[in-house]
Parts: sequence; structure tokens; C-alpha cells
Amino acid sequence: MKLNNVDFDTYFKNYPDENGYFGKYGGAYIPDDLKKAMQEITEAYFTICKSRRFISELRRIRKEFQGRPTPISYLERLSGSLGNVQLYVKREDLNHTGAHKLNHCMGEALLAKYMGKKKVIAETGAGQHGVALATAAAYFGLECDIYMGSVDIKKQAPNVARMKILGANVVEVTHGLATLKEAVDAAFEAYAREYKDSIYCIGSVLGPHPFPMMVRDFQSVVGIEAREQFVEMTGELPDAIVACVGGGSNAAGFFSGFLNDPVDIYGIEPLGRGPKLGDHAASLKYGTEGIMHGFNSIMLKDENGDPAPVYSVASGLDYPSSGPEHAFLRDLGRVKYDVVNDDDTIDAFFTLSRMEGIIPAIESSHAVAYGIKLAKTMGKGSVLINLSGRGDKDMDYIIEKYGIR
Ligand SMILES: *Cc1c(COP(=O)(O)O)cnc(C)c1O
Repeated sequence: MKLNNVDFDTYFKNYPDENGYFGKYGGAYIPDDLKKAMQEITEAYFTICKSRRFISELRRIRKEFQGRPTPISYLERLSGSLGNVQLYVKREDLNHTGAHKLNHCMGEALLAKYMGKKKVIAETGAGQHGVALATAAAYFGLECDIYMGSVDIKKQAPNVARMKILGANVVEVTHGLATLKEAVDAAFEAYAREYKDSIYCIGSVLGPHPFPMMVRDFQSVVGIEAREQFVEMTGELPDAIVACVGGGSNAAGFFSGFLNDPVDIYGIEPLGRGPKLGDHAASLKYGTEGIMHGFNSIMLKDENGDPAPVYSVASGLDYPSSGPEHAFLRDLGRVKYDVVNDDDTIDAFFTLSRMEGIIPAIESSHAVAYGIKLAKTMGKGSVLINLSGRGDKDMDYIIEKYGIR
């Protein structure tokens, strides 16, 4: 398939280019000492990821530790209640630790081990990336420093406990607003000091090259499995696929399996309380081109051009930008990016729980809500939704804020 001079037959050979660009998006906008560290990771990745030992080790881990392949489930009762469109979900909620994040954390930690590093470093906001990375570090016997703002440490007590039980060192960041932004800065500073013995593990298809590419590649197992399983189940491809987009890792991996197919692809951003700046985190819909956190993409900016405050009911989606590949696929017109607000998300959360016995993460509920909307408008056909994670982590919040419906 060809679109605006981009040939999807050879897409993965050409994107990103050697400097980490997807068209004009991506790159590595970082100080020189960090550039050196990123180059080391890039070179190691290109060498190691093609080695048979690395590939077979990662395959074995995916099967024996993570519990892959995760299944696809047909949503029979929900589909029946909506009409003639058949809805399916790819069950990343059944991946070990309950979400897709472990797919790239295991890859990153395995890379660290092959590079002879002793430690992995990262920041975390809601704690999901911290828990996944702490899990990977425990598996490989690596040290793990997770930087986290004091405000988030208070808010996310269960995830802080998980990280500590898994043996990670949770480093409290107290300056400024003491949330994710300060934690990112502190983690980058620590990495600049410690890069000889450690690697920085980014939690999505974000940050400087090679992370948007590497995290996508580690997540592509979701798309590869999903395509094969769907064809085996139904004898054909889905008409449409849907995933939620925060930084964009679950979407990037899932979409990668279908880019060259006649399949409509939808990436769903959180509209939160509405389209006013500060009330949502829909960067691809309302943002403009700009550089932040080491890469060029589409971002939401405040009046000074800095990353704007964002909001979503799903803490995993409240990031003021999205990965550079998503900005590229948007401009090409290969993926359609749309939004779902908090209210429709919570409705979908309860609907999937009640009708199918699957409690989805609030992040994933955005994709479910859009799948339901497509089912009502398409009339016929099939929709495959990536269920990026399970909702156990959201129980307390849902009960407190919404009660039992
Ligand atoms: C972190 C998270 C997301 C958002 O991250 P992406 O990089 O956009 O995939 C989505 N769903 C779940 C369950 C998460 O934990």
C-alpha cells in the first residue's frame, strides 16, 4: 500500500531514518553527553536485536514469563446488543503485570543486560511504568532506580509498594511541583551522571532516538500476534482496529501489524472534560509542532511555548505530546486520530465489565468507547480493539468518584 509517497511494503526499513526521523518528527534534541549515551544504546540495539541469542531469549521470556501470546476475545454479548458489527479485543490485560508495558520493559532490560549494564533508571508518574520496569529488573537481577515526585508518591501508594516489594529503589523528587515533569528531569540528570553503568528506560514511544523506534519494535509483538490470531479466528482481516494513545506505545505496536493492510486504523486520545486547553490531553488533535523531552512531535503548549498542563481521567494518558511516529502517521493520513471524553470512557468501562466480564483499565476504556461508537455507525463488519490493560489498578478511584452504577 502506498500513501503520499510512503510505501508501506518497505515502511519498517525506511522509518525511522538513521537519525531517528519519521518525516520531520522524532530526532534527538539532547545535550552532547546524553547524545553519546543514546548513540551507544542505538548501536547496541542494532547489533543485538538481530542476534539469534537475543531474539530467542526474548521469545522464551514472552512465552514462559509474560504468558504470551495473549488471546483475542470475541465480545458476543456486547456486539449483539449493538447490531451487526462484530467487536473483538486483544487481551493485553492478560499480559503479566496486567498491561502491555511489560512488553517493552522486558526488551529494554534484556538489552541492558546484553550491554553489560548493572542498573536501569526511569521516572514514573502514575507508577505503571515503574512497576513494569521494577518487574523486569527483578527478573534479570538488575538494580532499578525509579524517580517519582512526592505528590505522586502519596497519590499512588499501591504502586509505590509494588515497586519496593519488587526490590526497586524509589527516589523521591521534592522540588518544583514534585510531579512527573520534575521526575523526568531528575531521572535524566541521574542518567547523565551514571550512563556508564546504567541505561535509561523510557516508558513509551517517546524521548530521543532510538526510543520511539525501539519501544515500537518491542511492542510490535502485539500487532504480529493480533493479525495472525484474527485471521485464524475469522478467516479475514478486521475492517477497523482501535487503540488508545497516551505516549502511544500500545497503539504503535498494535498498528504496526496492520499498516500495510486494507484496514481502517483509529488512535484515540483523551478529551477529558472538553476541548479547552488544560481539560484534555488530545495533543494530536489540538497541538502544534514543537520540541520537548528530546524529540520533535505534535504537542500541547502553554502561552510561553512550554508543555501545557493536561488532564485525563486516565492517568496513563495525561501526557502533553505523543510519539513522533503518530504525528507522522497522522499527517500521512494512514491513521485517523480521534477523541473520547471522560463520560463516554466511564460508560464503556462499566459496559465491558457488565456485558463481558472484563474490567478494563480506564486508559483502554477510551478505545472500547470508540469501538462501541464505530459499531453503531458502521452497520456491518468487524472491529478489533487493543485492550491495553486491566482495571484492577483503577478500582478505588472508580468507586470513590463514580460509585457502583
Ligand atoms: C500506560 C498505559 C497506557 C498509555 O501508554 P501508551 O504508551 O500510550 O500505550 C495505556 N493503557 C494502559 C493500560 C497503560 O498502563
